[in-house]
Amino acid sequence: MKNIILFGAPGAGKGTQSKMLVEKYDLAYISTGEILRNEIKNKTSLGLKAKEVMDKGMFVSDDIIVGMITNFIEKNHNKGILLDGFPRTVVQAEELDDILKNTHRENHLLVLSLNVPKEELMRRLLKRAEIEGRTDDNEQTIKERFNQYETKTLPVAEFYKKKQGVYFEVNGIGTLEQAFVHLCEIIDKN
Ligand code: ADP
Repeated sequence: MKNIILFGAPGAGKGTQSKMLVEKYDLAYISTGEILRNEIKNKTSLGLKAKEVMDKGMFVSDDIIVGMITNFIEKNHNKGILLDGFPRTVVQAEELDDILKNTHRENHLLVLSLNVPKEELMRRLLKRAEIEGRTDDNEQTIKERFNQYETKTLPVAEFYKKKQGVYFEVNGIGTLEQAFVHLCEIIDKN
């Protein structure tokens, strides 16, 4: 059973690659960002709370996010999973370790990191702002999202680098297909 974390900065291409991987490997998919945007669209109480934080480029609280992941994994107990946008803090990664142990997935985990230089990320996010109109894709908020990524999420990469044979990096600046081929090679070999 494959359990995959797709890791990378905002704009690295996690969403697009996830959708292709989910299809190829028949995985259950969760994007915490997508769930939150849906909550906002449906004006739920969680959505109203999350919007305020997200529009500033900050993170939603670990409790809320871990609750979402716990539900998701419970519902998909017999399937491999792909996590997009989670874990984003070391606390979330530690909580995930427990969930994976409890569901006997801990020895079937791959963390795939999509690496893209910051200037290219900024360019992509500003372009996405024109196309999709996400309210957090403006220059000010993007800067804060990078800041959160560097201070809170990069330590998550270190957390997984310490585990043997779990963490792999892929170049995310070529074409979508090139990155996809590399991701698949790593998944097939491990
Ligand atoms: P991006 O990859 O561009 O950062 P996402 O859709 O993954 O976009 O996330 C959008 C926003 O949702 C984040 O900036 C954050 O506010 C919130 N969010 C998503 N996932 C998490 C998480 N695991 N922990 C905390 N906040 C999250």
